Amino acid sequence: MSQRVYLDHNATTPMRPQAIAAMEEALRAVGNASSVHGFGRAMRARVDSAREAVAALTGARAAAVVFTSGGTEANNAAIRAARRRRVIVSAIEHDSVRLVADQAETTPVTASGVVDLAALERTLASSSEPALVCVMLANNETGVVQPVADVVRLARAAKALVLCDAVQAAGKIDIDFAALGVDYLTLSAHKLGGPQGVGAIVLRDGAPFEPLLRGGGQERGRRAGTENVAGLAGFGVAATRASLELAQMASLAGLRDDMERTLARLAPGMRVFGAAAPRLANTSCLAMPGVAATTQLMALDLAGIAVSTGSACSSGTVRPSHVLAAMGVDADLAGCALRVSLGWTTTDGNIARFVGAWNDIYRRLSPAARLASAAA
Ligand code: PLP
Repeated sequence: MSQRVYLDHNATTPMRPQAIAAMEEALRAVGNASSVHGFGRAMRARVDSAREAVAALTGARAAAVVFTSGGTEANNAAIRAARRRRVIVSAIEHDSVRLVADQAETTPVTASGVVDLAALERTLASSSEPALVCVMLANNETGVVQPVADVVRLARAAKALVLCDAVQAAGKIDIDFAALGVDYLTLSAHKLGGPQGVGAIVLRDGAPFEPLLRGGGQERGRRAGTENVAGLAGFGVAATRASLELAQMASLAGLRDDMERTLARLAPGMRVFGAAAPRLANTSCLAMPGVAATTQLMALDLAGIAVSTGSACSSGTVRPSHVLAAMGVDADLAGCALRVSLGWTTTDGNIARFVGAWNDIYRRLSPAARLASAAA
């Protein structure tokens, strides 16, 4: 088989070589970043420079950045910080947001996958209890970019706090923490070319915060535990590379749009979800009606091509995508949806391979294609 094709960058993207080099260098060094001797100070310098880089990626002050073990911990920490509040989550949030708060209220999205601002305003007005509103910057399944500044405007009017999960957006679109105006912004290194198991929460000055982990005074008492210095070094370098390559990421839209046009020509019933809204340039969520996503996924895997389904697999069962359900997509059609996500290593040749393999599956397995060929 020719080289494997990786089109699952929203699950995790390959590490950037510069990040691997920075991690190797840090792994060879000794010292605890809390020690006052020279070894410790050299470790501290690595942590500080990672903090500067992650702050620069989001336009935040370095002191606002608290490192965590990833996006999941960062989201959990924000929800814990506001735990005496009523929690309102958009219907398309990642599980690390929507399944964390007890009794979270859900606010809907439109058919194009954008949070419904009028509905959010009504939800906020339905109680005078102080709230935390959770709306992500870009959705992991559809890539749809959310109107977070408008969400903040509504939230402020209701004296609510805002958590914005920017895990998928960071490194794909420009982020200006101050302009967004959110209280908590969360990030994950492995979505932008850094290592897995490393992330951050960016805090607005004065936003309430309670550490999830208590113990030593690391992260200014906001997250105890000896720092994962090598991981942070990789995160910092990946964040810098990602900031420098935002234009290249944006240019993936050309490749993605050509791919979607070609597939629509080959299979007129093909559906793209979220295409009517602003989307991340790298993400396409598309359905081949009549062919189960798991069948497509396995056939593509056999052809050496990695994508993911719009459904999440847990304990051996495939759950339908809560994102597509929230957009009002019929369950049968949602069960035929794949997520194709491009990234910094994607080439024209990768997309051509995917289109060829997808068309092959379509012609072999799609009821519509088989009917058309029988009629011909
Ligand atoms: N938030 C979003 C939108 C994600 O896509 C993910 C990962 O898939 C997470 C949070 C969790 O991040 P991590 O894998 O670093 O825990």
